[in-house]
Amino acid sequence: VDASPTSHSIGRTITVLTSVSLAVSLVALGSFAGMQSLSRYVEQKQQGLVATAQIFASVAAPGARKGDTGEVLRAIRAIGKIESVVHARVETGGRVLASIGVVPQLSSDARLDETLVTEGVLAIMRSRTIEASAIIRDGGEPVGRFVLLAETEGLFAPLTTALASLFIAALISLGIGVSVAGQFRRQLLDPVIALLTSVRSLAASKEARALSAAIDAGELIPFYQPIFDRTGTVMAGVEVLVRWKKPGQGFVLPGDFVPLAEKTGLIGKLDAVLLRQACRDALAWPELTVNVNASAIVFQSAGFARRVLATLQAEGFPADRLMVELTESAFAGDSETLRGEIQALRQAGIAIALDDFGTGFSNLSYLQQFRFDEIKIDRTFVDKFDRSTDSAAIVTAIISMSRAIGMTIVAEGVERAEQHDLLSEAGVHYMQGFYFAKPMPAADIEARRQANRGAEAA
Ligand code: C2E
Ligand code: CA
Ligand code: CA
Repeated sequence: VDASPTSHSIGRTITVLTSVSLAVSLVALGSFAGMQSLSRYVEQKQQGLVATAQIFASVAAPGARKGDTGEVLRAIRAIGKIESVVHARVETGGRVLASIGVVPQLSSDARLDETLVTEGVLAIMRSRTIEASAIIRDGGEPVGRFVLLAETEGLFAPLTTALASLFIAALISLGIGVSVAGQFRRQLLDPVIALLTSVRSLAASKEARALSAAIDAGELIPFYQPIFDRTGTVMAGVEVLVRWKKPGQGFVLPGDFVPLAEKTGLIGKLDAVLLRQACRDALAWPELTVNVNASAIVFQSAGFARRVLATLQAEGFPADRLMVELTESAFAGDSETLRGEIQALRQAGIAIALDDFGTGFSNLSYLQQFRFDEIKIDRTFVDKFDRSTDSAAIVTAIISMSRAIGMTIVAEGVERAEQHDLLSEAGVHYMQGFYFAKPMPAADIEARRQANRGAEAA
């Protein structure tokens, strides 16, 4: 009889200790790997939903302007194929003009709009549905709103499976041990976190010095990935992709050093070196257009256009053969500088492409504001195009919208014959991907050009 309170309190002590250790590991993990990848995943899903809403807002615009329910329903019917979407509607003048699916009666919802002001990751994970909306514009004027509802259960299934053991255990422990964890955090964890952070930034500065020296030593060189016409036989251009030729280590991919270069400001120097070398190589390929990538932070700094034009002039490279690729993140900053830079480039005859379309902010209003020459559909959509109906629906909507605005469409990351066939049928103008060719050194482009001439003559 007496043993009961004792075992109870021992049990409690164990529970608290377990909770504390689990909480500690979650917080530690949270500061570094686990929580970061978790929020990235949720963020990607959110952005995907907002992008979807914006794409459908754009295809619904003509019908919404006329107030034609039938036309709107026809325009947005592909939304029904998009995974996890259970409801979509178009509102004009505060009334529902057209709707598809039912609105589930649930207690907890998370809401997103174009500004992506969101609740915390946990709130979103716990919500049953996510609402994403986008303004429907007609020539810049708002005429209504497109709203979609997606069920989180399906949306986050891959994540919850992957993180279940870690995440759920940690959540439970946090629930029990949260106050204790709070006390311990300051004394135990903060110094550890501070130490790890300073170690990390020390390591980063060492790496940054190595990268800077490598740029000066000419170890950063351009590879070229051919871009083909829709038939897949004629090489129309190339995209310049940087490689770090590390002595004794082969070629290092940009994913391993471009983020560091961006963080440390070395990217400006890197991009300039690459552009100069690309001009020199590509002067010998007069029939090919040359696409270069510009990091958002470089592009947002005033003087970018001036520096690019100076390089072209110094190398004698024709401006109308150059295309600058920008990602949507470039549009998150100061739009006045951006507008000026884009205008200066275009005035000189340089074309502008929107890269990785569908993965970033996708605030479609800038498609109308800036008038891109080309739009590159991101690999994540192309990847599933022949296998998933939701990707196919999104890509089809992107294509019809881009064609309507008069932009050239490039599909990235084409890896299979079926994707090539379907994309070319759907109206994509150009394609790029391992199915056609991998990025290669300048010398290998020569051989490709011989084959090109054969294809053009035939
Ligand atoms: P990106 O601009 O989206 O470039 C396309 C990436 O997809 C390249 O990766 C390319 O090798 C890869 N890729 C092409 N076709 C396929 C395919 O069929 N399947 C798969 N799985 N991948 C394919 P890479 O060369 O590793 O470059 C990664 C990113 O690094 C680029 O993405 C770009 O954002 C950035 N980057 C590359 N070069 C430069 C550069 O010179 N300057 C700047 N600022 N960024 C660069
Ligand atoms: Ca690119
Ligand atoms: Ca891309």
